Amino acid sequence: MKIAVIGAGIGGLSTAVGLQRAGAEVTVFERASEPRAGGSGLSIFANGIAALETLGLSEAFDAVTDAGVEGFAAGQRLADGRWIAQVPNDAVGALRIVDRADLHRILLDALDPGTVLTGSEATVTATDGTLTVEEPGSAGSAVSEHFDLVIGADGLHSRTRTVVDGETVAPRYSGYSAWRGITSVPVDLSGEAGESVGHGRRFGIAPLADGRVYWFAVANMPQDAVFADEKATVEQMFTGWHSPIADLIAATPAEEVRRTAISDLSRRLARFHRDRVVLIGDAAHAMTPNLGQGGGQALEDAATLTVLLGPLLARGRAGNSAEDRAELEAALQRYESLRRPRTQSIAQKSRLMGQVFQLESPLLAGLRNAVISAVPSRLIASQAASVQKWSPPSV
Ligand SMILES: Cc1cc2nc3c(=O)[nH]c(=O)nc-3n(C[C@H](O)[C@H](O)[C@H](O)COP(=O)(O)OP(=O)(O)OC[C@H]3O[C@@H](n4cnc5c(N)ncnc54)[C@H](O)[C@@H]3O)c2cc1C
Repeated sequence: MKIAVIGAGIGGLSTAVGLQRAGAEVTVFERASEPRAGGSGLSIFANGIAALETLGLSEAFDAVTDAGVEGFAAGQRLADGRWIAQVPNDAVGALRIVDRADLHRILLDALDPGTVLTGSEATVTATDGTLTVEEPGSAGSAVSEHFDLVIGADGLHSRTRTVVDGETVAPRYSGYSAWRGITSVPVDLSGEAGESVGHGRRFGIAPLADGRVYWFAVANMPQDAVFADEKATVEQMFTGWHSPIADLIAATPAEEVRRTAISDLSRRLARFHRDRVVLIGDAAHAMTPNLGQGGGQALEDAATLTVLLGPLLARGRAGNSAEDRAELEAALQRYESLRRPRTQSIAQKSRLMGQVFQLESPLLAGLRNAVISAVPSRLIASQAASVQKWSPPSV
């Protein structure tokens, strides 16, 4: 089966690894001049770890992450450092914090050389699997190519999504943006990580395996806000917050402090596939990062698609005879029925969580904190576990 993947993000690369290993002839088209990890860190919970295992990537992933993070105190703190909720260490399941650059390297290393074509902008022109591919410097000239399956892994601003849905489903700005960074040196966290909440602001701390720390800072602002100096702005916004927040920002090179406007999709997609085109990752279900699940869900998509296409690929079938065509359609239909409800429900929870944690009014934020501190930690853990529980489908 000849498969095109549009986009070399976490979703596209992990899907390419799974399908190539299962026997497909895979090409990944990436419009950037090199695959970009997007900088900073990523939380991968038990579900993402299970998906990596299904894709045969556990060993490589374990080599760059550390289970030690599970021993850290985590939950929510106030700006002054007092805990309002702590998640019991044993209750949430596995968690790893990975440097995105390491994850990208693992995924690229797992692919056959030449699988990823960079500087290649790909556009789906027909749902029968026809793509046009434009290379940089080609003065707009494009070549047309046919694939047995096209996987749209082209992220939040996906154009493949429009082909599958029939209409443009635009990103929807959440009202807040996030700075992210990784310290250039190890910083002592005294065994404490998690999120600290204020009024319309939040700061998150996550230790990497080598002692460096991935952090994020979220603040309400217009989508088009402009700051002369991103690092100075985040330093100033979180002045007076508990230790070691100021140290973490100070230990991060200014050029590594980047801000992203947080968005999800303005409406749920009614379908994830049409004919020979299927969506994965943010292209299908971009979500706010409040549950730390966008990448994990992309990995679940990759693993699910790999398992469901496995029988066809194992028989070396391209999905072109009437019988194979029906089998391919059934596999894509099952992918959609497994992935659509789960990802859309997580996206909704994530958005709601963002609205609660970004409350600006001191009165409402105080009320929120009181409610959070009253909720039994076992209940918080069981809610988290319901999102983080996943296993691959059986075929
Ligand atoms: C602040 C923040 C924190 C986050 N934290 C976490 C976390 O802790 N844990 C977690 O699991 N997730 C997290 N996420 C979410 C996660 O980053 C995304 O869900 C994930 O990266 C999506 O991967 P993707 O491959 O679907 O899309 P992308 O990474 O967006 O990749 C899409 C790729 O497609 C390429 N492309 C687009 N159009 C074309 C085209 N026409 N032709 C060729 N190439 C094209 C792009 O250049 C890009 O490389 C976070 C997100 C944000 C913003």
